[in-house]
Amino acid sequence: MNWDIFRAYDIRGVYPTDIDEEAYYRIAKAYTYLFHPTTMVVGMDARASSPQLKAALTSGFVDAGVNVVDIGGITTDMLYYAVGSSDYSGGIVVSASHNPKQYNGAKMVREKATAISSDTGLFDIRDTLKAEKDKEVSSASKGSVTQKDVLVGYTAHVLSFIDRDVIKPFTFVGNANFGYACNTVAALVDELKLNLVPLNFEPDGTFPKGPPDPMLPSNRTETSELVRSSVATFAAAWDADADRCMFFDEQGEFISGAYITALLADILLNKHGKNKIIFDPRVIWPALKVCKQHGAEAIISKGGHAFMKERMRRENAIFAGEMSGHYYFRENFYADNGVIPFLLVLEHLSKTGKPLSEVMRPYMEGHYMSGELNYRVEDIKKVISDVKSCRLALQHPPFEYRTSAAPESGSPKAGTNRRTAKRDRINHRLETSLSLECGGTARHRFRLPS
Ligand SMILES: [Zn+2]
Repeated sequence: MNWDIFRAYDIRGVYPTDIDEEAYYRIAKAYTYLFHPTTMVVGMDARASSPQLKAALTSGFVDAGVNVVDIGGITTDMLYYAVGSSDYSGGIVVSASHNPKQYNGAKMVREKATAISSDTGLFDIRDTLKAEKDKEVSSASKGSVTQKDVLVGYTAHVLSFIDRDVIKPFTFVGNANFGYACNTVAALVDELKLNLVPLNFEPDGTFPKGPPDPMLPSNRTETSELVRSSVATFAAAWDADADRCMFFDEQGEFISGAYITALLADILLNKHGKNKIIFDPRVIWPALKVCKQHGAEAIISKGGHAFMKERMRRENAIFAGEMSGHYYFRENFYADNGVIPFLLVLEHLSKTGKPLSEVMRPYMEGHYMSGELNYRVEDIKKVISDVKSCRLALQHPPFEYRTSAAPESGSPKAGTNRRTAKRDRINHRLETSLSLECGGTARHRFRLPS
């Protein structure tokens, strides 16, 4: 087992070199050693290696005397629902999210879908395995295994976020990226009498079109083209484990998660009144603007699902959004969900009768983003210093701008986080963001005034 598979928010590695059946069997026992569960929920994504890894995980729990509820091929947010809506001790989904096909991994939660991250148990599991304490776990009686289909309950749960009677029978493109989002989306299409134009809708763990990540610009083209050719109202694209959702307007234009965060915050504040809203520090102005308009409290939190969820619970915030397309809801066990955003957008379009491009305009106006540019860097300090000089160079003419540097999302390594903002009298602005991972990846974002 490669110990680097244990990351800040999840487990991830190449199968079978970094992570294999034995690793999953032992992880189940290490989980039992640390948390003493009685019943665990397990599920898996559509990857080719997922069935045997889920079987190994199940065996580990069963041999440790823990009962297993197997919910089969699911999206990650279905695991959160299965655990959050019940009294189960916790849950594990075998998944490597949007990573290429050779990867696999796991996301774990404890009771009520509370995330397990590096500092809330994930590294303890690793250290338990290193010390071989998992091998001390045994049970005179074996746990039971029950199969459970959660789709019907899950569909009812996500539909509770909208008024289904107002939904119009829109035509939309749904890109499931070969994952299990297809099942939920098909159920919702049926319930709401929508017209679906399916794309990459058959689960296929070989991911024939490359990494199943709708955030990649190369993966957006086919969705954009299909929106235009099918004259759809909009498109939604999910990553392979469907905990992230991306949107395209009726012209096939991709909409950044920073703007969708602002839209969803606006929708929820309109529905529920004053509340707390959380977002990650990379791009903050669109959501800040919305919070200001509503007199709502805006909270900027370190990105990453475990941090966002923990902060949401602590603040009892109604909603949190990340630029990466993760959207979290208080009434969804403070967890992220890939279809609630889709339903809220659908409801909003139905109520306003406006095209999505027009709906998005107020959030995008006066704000420009170049999109993400990725660089591998050797010397973080030098890059931060270069960003500073870039900032100084941009002080003429005066702009409002913002810079930030943070470790790559998901990296357990410590990083630097700095933000600078200046305002001039004529309120022109330029925002730059830079994210860094130690010896890893840097991202630049430039925003220009309207
Ligand atoms: Zn994902």
